[in-house]
Amino acid sequence: MIELLKGKPVSDSIRESVIRQVEEGNGSAPKLVILRVGDNPEDMSYEKSATKKLSGMGINVVSCVLSQDVSADDFKSEFMKINEDESVDGILIMRPLPKHLKEAEQWMTLSFDPEKDVDGICPVNLAGIMRGDSEAFAPCTAQSVIEIIKGYGVELSGKNVTLIGRSMVVGKPLSMLLLKENATVTICHTKTGNLAEACRNADIVIAAAGHAGLVGASFVRDGQVLVDVGVNVDSEGNLVGDINIMEIESAGVDVKITPVPGGVGVVTTAVLAEHVCMAWTKKNK
Ligand code: NAD
Repeated sequence: MIELLKGKPVSDSIRESVIRQVEEGNGSAPKLVILRVGDNPEDMSYEKSATKKLSGMGINVVSCVLSQDVSADDFKSEFMKINEDESVDGILIMRPLPKHLKEAEQWMTLSFDPEKDVDGICPVNLAGIMRGDSEAFAPCTAQSVIEIIKGYGVELSGKNVTLIGRSMVVGKPLSMLLLKENATVTICHTKTGNLAEACRNADIVIAAAGHAGLVGASFVRDGQVLVDVGVNVDSEGNLVGDINIMEIESAGVDVKITPVPGGVGVVTTAVLAEHVCMAWTKKNK
């Protein structure tokens, strides 16, 4: 039998904590700037949803939109204006940026005020995550995986976790967060020899490959917790994860799974709100 570990109860609890903290601010409110280049529909949809959710928690969200063909110099100067603006607590950059801004993006990560880097992309925060520093901002998606696992009371200490994916946004930072929780982590990727076996050997499997239905019945066994970070669109236009729930269910395996949609993604926005609130609280201390 499959038990779904939905993101909503976890995101609701983070949301309530953020609302309480903002209320204690006596009228002042945290401020997030979302910096977007171009009109990518996925970025716009995330921005719209994040703006609605964070505003509902009392966070002031402002969008800064630059044209797709913005020059590297203009991008840098717009970014620095926000980075140096004392009224801004957090900055979220919609990425990937257009290819012509590759060098500017690298420059941006080095110039980022770590206290405002609420999605954990700058080297100071990444180094903090490697040290296990709880003040460092981790990328929101990576942090949300930890929140959903802990939110359901799943023990990480001493457990074998197989993580599929080694990107800078999810896999690598998440591996460090898992180590901090005393898990034994196996990181898999496209060159991993026997992925199914690595998954079957684990207590917890985290799929962050961006490959629809990659984790099927042959990858799993009874008693495992499966966390699906993948967001893919199937041939019928539906959002699906990296885990093939239908196949696993048909095989009659007893596992707990985070659904897509409605799992990790829901928690990610709540973690973003929590990070903005943390940045604001720290600034006002
Ligand atoms: P990415 O493409 O940068 O990295 C994917 C990683 O998975 C790579 O390290 C690659 O080696 C590995 N991989 C890919 N296919 C594989 C395969 N067949 N076998 C083994 N390893 C494989 O992607 P990303 O930015 O890390 O994102 C991963 C997934 O998470 C995507 O589906 C993305 O849409 C999703 N995502 C979700 C959220 C959320 O909030 N839920 C946020 C960010 C990304």
